[in-house]
Amino acid sequence: MLDKIVIANRGEIALRILRSCRELGIKTVAVYSEADRSQKHVLLADESVCIGPASSAESYLNMPAIISAAEVTDAMAIHPGYGFLSENADFAERVEKSGFTFIGPRSETIRIMGDKVSAIRAMKAAGIPCVPGSDGPLGDELQENVRLARELGYPVIIKASGGGGGRGMRVVHTEATLLNAIMVTRSEALAAFGNETVYMEKFLERPRHVEFQVLADGRGNAIHLGERDCSMQRRHQKVIEEAPAPGITAEQRETMGARCVRACQEINYSGAGTFEFLYQDGEFFFIEMNTRLQVEHPVTEMITGVDIVREQIRIAAGKPLAWSQEEIQIRGHAMECRINAEDPTNFMPCPGPINQWHAPGGPGVRIDTHIYNGYVVPPFYDSMIGKVISHGNNRGSAIARMQQALSEMVVEGIKTNIPLHQEIFSHGAFKAGGTDIHYLEKRLGL
Ligand code: ADP
Repeated sequence: MLDKIVIANRGEIALRILRSCRELGIKTVAVYSEADRSQKHVLLADESVCIGPASSAESYLNMPAIISAAEVTDAMAIHPGYGFLSENADFAERVEKSGFTFIGPRSETIRIMGDKVSAIRAMKAAGIPCVPGSDGPLGDELQENVRLARELGYPVIIKASGGGGGRGMRVVHTEATLLNAIMVTRSEALAAFGNETVYMEKFLERPRHVEFQVLADGRGNAIHLGERDCSMQRRHQKVIEEAPAPGITAEQRETMGARCVRACQEINYSGAGTFEFLYQDGEFFFIEMNTRLQVEHPVTEMITGVDIVREQIRIAAGKPLAWSQEEIQIRGHAMECRINAEDPTNFMPCPGPINQWHAPGGPGVRIDTHIYNGYVVPPFYDSMIGKVISHGNNRGSAIARMQQALSEMVVEGIKTNIPLHQEIFSHGAFKAGGTDIHYLEKRLGL
């Protein structure tokens, strides 16, 4: 087994990774920025190394500093968490070349999946249904692009192959604006991602976001852990996630899950991963694969009983998958609310000191957070300060437990989006389940 792991992240996910390491008897090294000296996981880790000033570019994105931290502490592996360097193929490659284990897929896999055109090509070849579209990069042939858009039918969406985080996309409703949209997306993509490749897809008007969690050991064994619904979004950022996805039948789960498993085997995938789909009118359309742990992984853990972080570490240590597909049983329903330090009315980040923190509890309530009384939320990073996860025998019970948890929770000193969650949980449409990805923004009048 890996005997010491560097946790190359911060916040709740760093703590989450530390907890699995401890259970496995693995020593931990926290790497932190000057602004994060008093992070909970830094205080709990066996060793800690300051890797730079507050700015992420000089700390959590500083590859040489993180690799040297692994060297000086004699660690064996690096867990990247999510965000920061977790989907950076160059980082994974540097980690591998420096003789450490990267806890995630091979760098080549990250590279293929990080480029949307190559990811879609690989997925199509592996039998995964994709959004109807250009089947590769758009060329400069104007007439050909016009013909393609007509064939797909408006609206279409122009997307940057190197895009991410909801950036580098443009929806086109009429032929008159098509060529300009292609040009603008190309130049923005070049400026933002250093890659001007763009492609075209049919724009789906009222899809849901449904994603499948997979685990694969790179030795031919792969399983899926069912799906999650992450349609409750604002500006392409997930706000609430749940598992299983309302209305998805056991048969659909089995069919799509089996396809994702087969795709993992085809690309010899290793580690935890997520196949993201848009789901509309009973059909799934692949949009991208995330080659890392996701923020919303706890809802899947709650309904399957699988510790996804533990499996990531075991797989990286070269162990075969601990679970067979038959052993994965879906029990009940789980919901997750992302708690952000932000003003619930205008969504402005709201960093500062937390004077009072009372965690909710009770049956089926899990809190993943790094905050504590007196903790100061720094202004330099993502505003998420934790996640509340609820689990019940069915969706209604998971909702009731979440409402109960939200009402018990006290965070004083800063503003949070707890009131927004409470409001959403009172909506009839949310309670009924199956709202599309535009629901929240429409409802908020955005
Ligand atoms: P990113 O990597 O930036 O997150 P994605 O390809 O995952 O980009 O798309 C982000 C979001 O953009 C999706 O969740 C969806 O809301 C919207 N989107 C992307 N492609 C389409 C499409 N073909 N039709 C409708 N919406 C789309």
